[in-house]
Amino acid sequence: MKTKASNMSKKGFFDYLKQQAGEGIHFIYCAHCKVDADYIGDRLERHLPSCEYRITKQKLLEENYSF
Ligand SMILES: [Zn+2]
Repeated sequence: MKTKASNMSKKGFFDYLKQQAGEGIHFIYCAHCKVDADYIGDRLERHLPSCEYRITKQKLLEENYSF
């Protein structure tokens, strides 16, 4: 499996659970909201508002804002 491993240390919202559509198929999507991972990139707002990952991350961000 060789998928942009060099981007691992890049800052952004890449740590969501991804799912692959099938063996040999290059379609990967968020396991929570099923949005195309290519479309999402590292943009949290591109997950669905109901996405478990997005909700969790947004909560964390809000907590970090209030010192
Ligand atoms: Zn998602």
